[in-house]
This record gives sequence, structure tokens and C-alpha cells, in this order.
Amino acid sequence: MSDLNARVVIIGAGHAGGTLAALLRQYGHTGPITMVGDEPIAPYQRPPLSKAWLKGEADADSLALKPLEFYAGANIDFRPSVKAVKLERSARRVHLSDGSELGYDFLVIATGARAIALPIPGADLQGVLSLRTAADAEALKAQVGPGKKLAVVGGGYIGLEVAASGRALGAEVVVLEREARLLARVACETLSTFFRDVHEQHGVTFELGASVTGFEGANGHITGVSLADGRIVPCDAAVVGVGVIPNDELAVDSGLETARGVVVDLEARTADPHVFAIGDVAHRPMPIYGRMFRMESVPNALEQAKQAACAITGRPAPAGEVPWQWSDQYDLKLQIAGYAFDVDEIVVRGDPKSGKFAVFHLKGDQLQSVEAINAPPEFMMGRQLIGNRKALDKAKLADPTVSMKEVTA
Ligand code: FAD
Repeated sequence: MSDLNARVVIIGAGHAGGTLAALLRQYGHTGPITMVGDEPIAPYQRPPLSKAWLKGEADADSLALKPLEFYAGANIDFRPSVKAVKLERSARRVHLSDGSELGYDFLVIATGARAIALPIPGADLQGVLSLRTAADAEALKAQVGPGKKLAVVGGGYIGLEVAASGRALGAEVVVLEREARLLARVACETLSTFFRDVHEQHGVTFELGASVTGFEGANGHITGVSLADGRIVPCDAAVVGVGVIPNDELAVDSGLETARGVVVDLEARTADPHVFAIGDVAHRPMPIYGRMFRMESVPNALEQAKQAACAITGRPAPAGEVPWQWSDQYDLKLQIAGYAFDVDEIVVRGDPKSGKFAVFHLKGDQLQSVEAINAPPEFMMGRQLIGNRKALDKAKLADPTVSMKEVTA
């Protein structure tokens, strides 16, 4: 079911929604396209908000996916600062916060995810921040600088990137992590230890196994973070980076299937043929792992935007991609391909002390995932190996004197 003249409404003007709008025109869609976003600005990239932009190495214009004029020029009706509040699927209509409503032939839910807020005392104090939007990043930047004390709650990738950027800006940084190691949910122990060492060398301090119970304040502004053991860690600002939850309320309230994310197929379509969901909000199939899950990455947003654009314009579905993502901290580039599902062996290639190595996660002799630090060949070849499911020679893989070309031959 496709129609180049169909009315397409995209809810959410983020990485996935903005990419989809542009792709639809590129693929020859001639019908009306309306993109509704509750932020005041055109679709932009979030990754620099914790990295180059926070450090002052990128300006606001460089964040935009496309210049604002692009949307009018491509006849895309972009409506900023408006929220979709209700989806009426039987009437194929969506209601907006400004009181208007839009009819559609295809609706795409691209509403992303939001930062989890800690429901603890003091969470509403000034200086208790999260980092999801450009506005959040502005507020954070205003609090970070020489002589300032920044507490980062949560030792995941975003928390660690903020810590690195905070140090680059001259702030004192302490990371408070509930688990016994950093990146506990997303990375192996080798990587956790590596990043801890690197951050400590750059002057970051860590409190691991630290459960945050509240924020202390004076005159409405944060002065410290209280821990379950009774200690108070003084700070001028705190960034809470403890994960996100999908913005899937429109789907839930309209009776679409959700599973911590809107359930879709490989065309990014829900069980309602007129409704798609893409990006961080979607719970999608991942055939190489034979399972469904929700991803939080730019490459996933781009892949699903392509899937939906192809389905809407009647193109063949794009080839499946091996998922990947990245993180930049100091002069380190971490590239991750795949997910470490059902892993029974880990092979480390190279010496972490050299600052250039890769961790391969295997299930039997097949590669499930690779985490590569400053090691692009290991990342690129690893990504191929995850995709082609080739059996691996583990001894060759572990030996950095054997080229990755030979390992994959
Ligand atoms: P979003 O970009 O979040 O866009 C969703 C938009 O929909 C938002 O503007 C939201 O406000 C809006 N919206 C929500 N509900 C409604 C509604 N009802 N009506 C209208 N609008 C609505 N990924 C990587 O791959 N590598 C990285 O290094 C990386 N770094 C990151 C660093 C930071 C600080 C953050 C926050 C994210 C990072 N990510 C990274 C993740 C990446 O940015 C996301 O995966 C990507 O933005 C997902 O795109 P999306 O369009 O699904 O969601």
C-alpha cells in the first residue's frame, strides 16, 4: 500500500522525523507532508550536545540536519512548538496542542524518548539538569566552567561524555554510579575499567556503588547530592543521565501494540497499515539476532526513516543493516557494532594500555558485537562479520599481528 500523493503526517521533528521528511521528497513523494515538533527549532543532531557542542567546538547552526529554509523549499509544512496530543486512528486524524487537527493517509510516530527524571527530594532544584534537547544543553553549558563542581549521576555513555566535556571546560567532575562499574548495562568489564582509568587520568573522580537519594539545596539552587550512605557530595550542578523512556503515549492511548516502544515490522509499520513508528520510540525486529528490541542511536533512526520512506513511496524495502553507534571521550573514539546477546566468549585484540584495541563478543564462533577503541579496521570488519555470520578463527582474531583482512578471509 503506497501512494505518492498520500497525506503524510510526521509527529516528532527529530533525527528520525527530519530525515524521513527529506527522504520522502527525495524518493518522489508529491503529496502533502506535515511535520509536527514540540521543540522550537528544526530537526537537529543530538550527539554533539554532550561532545563537540558542549565543549564549544561546534556552533548551533552546525547541529541542524538541514537549514530551516529547506523545509519550505521542499514544500514540507514544518510546525515547530506544537505537540500532538491525541491520535484518532479510526478517523485517521491527529489532534495538536494548538487546538488544530490533521487528517492523514500515513502517520509516522517519530517522537523519540525522554530522559528519566529521578523521583527524589530536591529534583526540582535549579541546577539539577538532564540532557536530551538543545535547550537542556544550553542550560548545562551555562553551569559548567573553571572552578565549578559538576556531579554526573549515571556512568553510562552520555554521563561519561558530559564528564569528559566538563573536564575540557575546566570543571571539577565527579561521576556517581549506582552499579559497581561504569557502563554496566551496555559494555563489558574490560571497557568499563578502561574508561574509568582514562577518566581518572583526566582528573574525574568516581563514586561507584553509590545510590543517589536526593539533592541538597540553598536558595532554590542545588548545593550537593546526597547518597544512601549518608554522605553529601557538594556540587554547583548535577546532570542526571540514568537512561531514557520512549515517548509512546500516542500509540498506547490509541490502542497500538507497545513493548516499551511502539511495535513495528521491518517496514517500520505498526499493525495499523496507516501508522508507522521510527527511531528511539520504535520496538523493532532485528533479524540477525532473531529478536525485537528498541535502539537509541542515530544509525537506527536513519535506517528506520529509510524503511518507512520506502514503504510509503512504494520502493522495495532497504537491505537490513548491522546496528552501530559511537561515543567520543577525550581523544578516544569508541565505535560499537551489534549487540552482545547470548555471548559465551570475549576476545580482546590489542592492549587497552595502548589506547587502541577492540573487544569481540562471540556466540560460539560467530561474532555478535564488537567494541573498538581508536580501531576503525576492527570496527568495520567486525561489522561485516556480524552481518555475514561467518565462523571465526579466534586465535587469529586475538592476534593483532594478523591483519583483520586475514581474519575475515
Ligand atoms: P529525537 O531526536 O529525540 O526526536 C524526537 C522529537 O519528537 C523530539 O524533538 C521530541 O521533543 C519530539 N516529540 C516528542 N513527543 C512529541 C509529540 N507528542 N508531538 C510533537 N513532537 C514530539 N546516538 C548515537 O548513535 N551516537 C551518539 O554518540 C549519540 N550521542 C547522544 C548524545 C546525547 C546527549 C543524546 C541526547 C543522544 C545521543 N544519541 C547518540 C542518541 C540519538 O541522538 C538518538 O538515537 C536520536 O536522536 C533518535 O532520533 P529520534 O528522531 O528517534 O528522536
